[in-house]
Amino acid sequence: MSKPITKVLVANRGEIAVRVMRTCRELGIATVAVYSELDRNALHVRFADEAYALGGQTAAESYLNTEAILNAIAQSGADGVHPGYGFFSENADFARTVTDAGVAWIGPPPSSIEVMGDKISSRIAAAEAGVESVPGTTEMINDVSEIHAFGATFGYPIAIKAAYGGGGRGMKVVPSESEAAACLESAQREATAYFGRDECYMEKYLTRPRHIELQVFCDSHGNGIYISDRDCSTQRRHQKLIEEAPAPAIPAATRTAMGEAAVKVALACGYIGAGTVEMLYQDGEFFFLEMNTRLQVEHCVTEEVSGLDLVALQIKIAQGEKLGLKQNKVVTNGHSIEVRINAEDSAKGFMPSPGTITHLRVPSGPGVRWDGGYEEGDTISQYYDNLVGKLIIWAPDRERAIKRLLRALGEFEISGIKTTIPAHIVLLATDDFANVNHSTKWVEDEIDNNLFVNPQDGVSTSAEGEALIERSMPVEVNGKRFSVKVWVPETAIAAPTAGASKSKARPKTAGASSGAGGSGSGTVAAPMQGTILKVLVAVGDVVEVGQYLVVLEAMKMENNIAAEMAGTVKAVHASVGDSVGSGDTMIEIE
Ligand code: ADP
Repeated sequence: MSKPITKVLVANRGEIAVRVMRTCRELGIATVAVYSELDRNALHVRFADEAYALGGQTAAESYLNTEAILNAIAQSGADGVHPGYGFFSENADFARTVTDAGVAWIGPPPSSIEVMGDKISSRIAAAEAGVESVPGTTEMINDVSEIHAFGATFGYPIAIKAAYGGGGRGMKVVPSESEAAACLESAQREATAYFGRDECYMEKYLTRPRHIELQVFCDSHGNGIYISDRDCSTQRRHQKLIEEAPAPAIPAATRTAMGEAAVKVALACGYIGAGTVEMLYQDGEFFFLEMNTRLQVEHCVTEEVSGLDLVALQIKIAQGEKLGLKQNKVVTNGHSIEVRINAEDSAKGFMPSPGTITHLRVPSGPGVRWDGGYEEGDTISQYYDNLVGKLIIWAPDRERAIKRLLRALGEFEISGIKTTIPAHIVLLATDDFANVNHSTKWVEDEIDNNLFVNPQDGVSTSAEGEALIERSMPVEVNGKRFSVKVWVPETAIAAPTAGASKSKARPKTAGASSGAGGSGSGTVAAPMQGTILKVLVAVGDVVEVGQYLVVLEAMKMENNIAAEMAGTVKAVHASVGDSVGSGDTMIEIE
């Protein structure tokens, strides 16, 4: 029986909240935003028809606060909840709570989320559906000897994965038998720090795979289809940077087999709604990796080639309607590529770069789509994911899509934060990308990351040692226009901004940026709020300038915090698993 949804509360923030609201508006559905204290005036709040405060700053205090969200649902009278991605999107308990309150959950049933939520049960479910996973185990590792035995049969490298992991974290690659014990210990430690549980399992680590995923949709009447595939092989630290549809250079028969396998897996777990079945593809073979039970960040490329609005389809299914689309009627047209514009310094190992966007002008023109979560003047907080927005291109074929994307990236103007744009420009222009000769490890292993510098962001130093930023400006000579470069002090262009202090906007102590002079501070403070993943030194250790002291996980990234001065470690105030705030002292060196 179908029941129309009239008011949707989006339990999320940033670009995905805005994206969902756009479709709701087109469908005549009222929109409700929720917001943390930091997001009181965020774009998704400005965009919504009405908005309710959740309180708190961190994700746990706000967007992961069930009670506060339930209050907002009751207050607003929303009859549908869209979770976006991240936060509560793959939380079966939250889905159940919403459904129990008599509100439509625009997502899969809690039971499907549970089956696919842990990597081991999803491997078992795929096997039951007759779909092969990467060779591996379906039991927790109890002892290192099990890794040795697996290695003797399947060879090395082996991936040790956190069973309850996600987001590209909690995976360790064992290169050889002698390193197995250390890798297991570090995988378990990381799993505990990130996910609060240390269960790990293992599978063969493919050395040069491509990441191919299938967009599936099932309705509550037993129908399931796949809508195109996507290639998301361009990654760093197992996190996606560039995605495209359809996946290039896949034989037609393999493409169909992958799509059919994905639908089988989805139907086998009683799936309803939008889901993504991820596969690894190497040497013409494909293996099930996992299923993501939500709308993905990269859903837009599928929309561009299929002409379908996936959020509208999600709402239709949540209303209890039939898909109304048969597999043989799903067609794709042309090629689409998406680049994730993150607040990260790609030249410095993709280090997070939160701060205020002092200037923003996004590209436009034929075939260009911008799904943004921020506008000029908005602040990217250190507390949340650092995705600024997604630039999505459609063109009649892949070659033209690459050229169009490079054209659009050339038009992109953004200041105040560092972004992944310089990396995208380098990567998209490579022969490897053009020839589909890339893999999931390509960016890290085969590309010189020092090339990821924005030429307009060249920094040099004045005679007084002040940082100078390169800027272009127009001049006219005899009526002809020239563009000249000038170097201006950083202080002259860093406009005063609301919310973010300068030190927050430009973390100083993290990673590769530190340790140049050796005269830095002996007090090593957290450059941003995060979780301690590793403490690499102990009291009494002698350290050198630039030596890594602590690994801090912040904004979904690992950041190596290095010593700014040489000396002896006097005190260690950080332990694995601790949450630290910006400015908290972690290590003291004398
Ligand atoms: P997460 O849930 O953290 O996203 P996944 O299992 O989906 O983790 O893996 C994320 C990425 O890690 C994949 O896209 C791929 O790049 C890499 N990866 C995962 N498993 C393997 C494997 N067995 N061999 C090679 N690469 C892998």
